[in-house]
Amino acid sequence: MNKEKLIVAIDGPAGAGKSSAAKLLSARIGADYIDTGAMYRAVALKLIRTGTDYRDAEALDAMLESTLIDFEAGRTILDGEDVSGLIRTPEISALASPSSAVPAIRYKLTALQQAMGEEKSVVMDGRDIGTVVFPNADVKFFLTASADERARRRMLELQGKGESADFDEVKAEIEKRDRQDSQREFRPLKKADDAIEIDSTRMNIEQVVSLMSDIIDAKRMDLHGHKGD
Ligand code: C5P
Repeated sequence: MNKEKLIVAIDGPAGAGKSSAAKLLSARIGADYIDTGAMYRAVALKLIRTGTDYRDAEALDAMLESTLIDFEAGRTILDGEDVSGLIRTPEISALASPSSAVPAIRYKLTALQQAMGEEKSVVMDGRDIGTVVFPNADVKFFLTASADERARRRMLELQGKGESADFDEVKAEIEKRDRQDSQREFRPLKKADDAIEIDSTRMNIEQVVSLMSDIIDAKRMDLHGHKGD
């Protein structure tokens, strides 16, 4: 493991706490945080805005060719516009899952994600980071939690934004998305053979991040005899 540059992959199902953990972990280890789910969500938003059918290969290619996605200070930028708030809706969640099964979309975003990790240390979360985007990542985590706990966390998140929601509906939406994401043919959600699985059902976010950062430190110690900082 190169101590100057570190690639940490965090995969797992919806609502397992990947983005909260990745955000805190990246700050702790001095890496950039890349939310790949936000990139698939931005593509879904653009599909809606341009009225593009993702099953129409030609129209999709044309749309993707004129699509720019980037991150600036933690914000998701689509074609120069900050869309961070607009991509966190149930409508976008529902479209991001089936559209992300389309190879043309995955090729484009995977290339972008790989370029983002080329120069700098990154903590990247998603569904296929440890298996496809960075199969040689320095450390890979697979973060899970029970469906009930994941639905409970999503409820709290929605309530925090002043939105009301029904627990059973939230849980059903999460389970449907997981099913689609793990059963798609092309690059499904899957634990990499060498990923460390963390079940966060009975852990709070600080415990998850401490465990992850201890594992990273131990790996650095193994390879360099020091923590690398
Ligand atoms: O992580 P988040 O829930 O924001 O991701 C939204 C959707 O984008 C997921 O349900 C999944 O279908 C897709 N996604 C993916 N591969 C990734 C990240 C997200 O297919 N690396």
